[in-house]
Amino acid sequence: MLKLLKTHFGYDSFRPLQKEIIDTIISGQDSLVLMPTGGGKSLCFQLPALTLPGITLVISPLIALMKDQVDTLCANGISAAFLNSSLTLKEQASVMQRASSGELKILYLAPERLETYGFSDFLGSLNVSLLAIDEAHCISEWGHDFRPDYRNLRNLREKFSKVPVIALTATATPTVREDILHQLGMEKAKTFILSFNRENLHYSVRPKYNAFAQLVELLQSFKNKAVIVYCFSRKNTEEIAQNLADAGLPAVPYHAGLPKKTRIETQEKFIRDEVPIIVATIAFGMGIDKPDVRLVVHMDLPKTIESYYQETGRAGRDGLPSECVLFYSYADRRKQEYFINQIANPQEQRLALSKLDNVIDYCQDSTCRRAYLLNYFGEDWKKTMCDACDNCVELPTETFDATEISQKIISTILRTGERFGTAHICDVLHGSKKKRIVELKHHQLSVHGIAQETSLGALREYVEALKKSKYLEQNNGEYPTLRVSQKGRQALLSNELISLPISKAPTTILTRKFGSDLEYDIEAFEKLRKLRKQIADEQNVPPFVIFGDRTLQEMAYYFPASLESFAHIFGVGRKKLEEFGEAFLACISLHALENDLNEKPIPGKTAQPIDKKISRSSLTLQETKAMLLKKLSIQEIADKRELSPSTIIQHIEKLTYTNQAPDISYLKPNKEQFEIIKNAFQATNSPSLTPAFKYLEEKYEYNELRLVRLFLQI
Ligand code: ADP
Ligand code: ZN
Repeated sequence: MLKLLKTHFGYDSFRPLQKEIIDTIISGQDSLVLMPTGGGKSLCFQLPALTLPGITLVISPLIALMKDQVDTLCANGISAAFLNSSLTLKEQASVMQRASSGELKILYLAPERLETYGFSDFLGSLNVSLLAIDEAHCISEWGHDFRPDYRNLRNLREKFSKVPVIALTATATPTVREDILHQLGMEKAKTFILSFNRENLHYSVRPKYNAFAQLVELLQSFKNKAVIVYCFSRKNTEEIAQNLADAGLPAVPYHAGLPKKTRIETQEKFIRDEVPIIVATIAFGMGIDKPDVRLVVHMDLPKTIESYYQETGRAGRDGLPSECVLFYSYADRRKQEYFINQIANPQEQRLALSKLDNVIDYCQDSTCRRAYLLNYFGEDWKKTMCDACDNCVELPTETFDATEISQKIISTILRTGERFGTAHICDVLHGSKKKRIVELKHHQLSVHGIAQETSLGALREYVEALKKSKYLEQNNGEYPTLRVSQKGRQALLSNELISLPISKAPTTILTRKFGSDLEYDIEAFEKLRKLRKQIADEQNVPPFVIFGDRTLQEMAYYFPASLESFAHIFGVGRKKLEEFGEAFLACISLHALENDLNEKPIPGKTAQPIDKKISRSSLTLQETKAMLLKKLSIQEIADKRELSPSTIIQHIEKLTYTNQAPDISYLKPNKEQFEIIKNAFQATNSPSLTPAFKYLEEKYEYNELRLVRLFLQI
């Protein structure tokens, strides 16, 4: 199995529980798998599917995701396809034919398909070895995402009563779990539960003032990385996206009020790494399986801890360090409350309020955020220091003498009778003449305006810091008022020195963590990213289907110089080695040459002889090269070699990238055609094929475009 894992997925070891789950499937038993997002559920059925004699049927409710999953499998050389309503009838017939003939190892199906006319006969004609039910909680009315079509699975299960079933979900309440087993009639299944801790996610809560400025600062350290910024209102998403764009940060809004076409386009652009920042309401994310989201920001309070866990869960599916930042202001509670008050059913209303209180608790808590989340979900998380949340990580503490401002704040709280919240106290300090201040005669107090020169934002920050250092306390009632603690009184009376930490940008946690990670060459990484995008566009798939970020990072660290060492890079399986190895190697070696860098040995890997099939891949290039030397046309070479013209063009591209191409000027298209296509590349201002193809109204073939592009690059 380990060998298959490397050959097909390019990974060297299993993630926790994967091996046990795979063994269970192979032994013919049913299994129920509960793992958090990014835990590696898919591999649990994809790998056994390769060794089982027949086909594996995968039921998945998210049509939008099927294509990406199937593309990823195909890129790894696994014969997979999907059947759903996005295909034409002809395409469906072809998939069904490939399934019946035994060519396909994995077939993804939408649940509604199961009950369509004649489909049962088709399924009956298949040699099914495994049933995988993804997002299995959809079968339960207790879950948050019940889908009536999932009830059809019962029949499917009965139809293939001898076939092992694996049900998978990232939702794990005991009620849902029991219900899944019951509904599918698989009470005897082995249940596998992985901790819901997302180790690579870093949590922090920031006080919400100057939130936009903080956001900009945060985003500046996430340049070129995928980011989701969640906002409460549609209007806010649009405003913030616009303001970010004005600040030079490419951001696009997304909410349910936008036309469907715009929404699909935005999603697509995000998945394809064309816009890095999406500012969205919670309508965004369901159909998104992007593995390399590096930052999820909540500008407003989430509704519940469940939704917070789910929304932040979209970060870092690929296991690389990723950040979750929440901007918290107690005042935001009112926004949510307003909506909760509209709930007609009193019981539901109470529930919603208590869930909101949990969110407030989470924000105000000064112990480990991770522990809070996991305990909330009933997990017995023993650790109290996770080393990756704002309450656990000790940020470098630089302090400054804050005695004067602290004394002003403490005095103001005492002079107003310890009956007011942060906002009011700061208003008094700042010298506001608001109606309420005047009504209360607080403008007549000696402390009114004593901190006039300090901004309201800074004042709030001092109050927060004084609370953290226990000089102040806060009541957590409906109106959270500030009190001065014993320590605070003492400090004021005896004129003690009060030093407060200088606040650091929230990125600190991340930078600290990244420091311990692979210190790869960022410039090389960017070049590899460009190449990945270019290849992805040619193949009309999202970039992560070609290689994940971790793979590019390893390339930009080890600088493999041969196919042999390239094969050892994380995420490089046989098919990808064959298909992309040379192009990426060429890019790496060029960079290494320019910067005088050498290949580093990959630890734990001894050079081993490479698969015969792969060495043949170089041979096949040499054969094409020989024919190019004889000045054969692309079609002639394709015919002789029984390969497609596009494969031959790919060979020519590889030969060119690696500086091995002979003179190919005889292949240049005629001048008129050349100029038209060249113009299209210039007009679309991109080497990608699809924009040029569309620009030319699909009048020229992709192969023709590729050839022209090649000549433009030479
Ligand atoms: P889930 O469905 O549980 O959210 P996925 O199956 O999408 O998670 O896996 C998340 C990521 O982890 C994918 O990019 C997948 O390729 C990767 N992955 C899975 N198993 C392994 C493994 N054993 N080693 C390295 N990466 C893995
Ligand atoms: Zn922690």
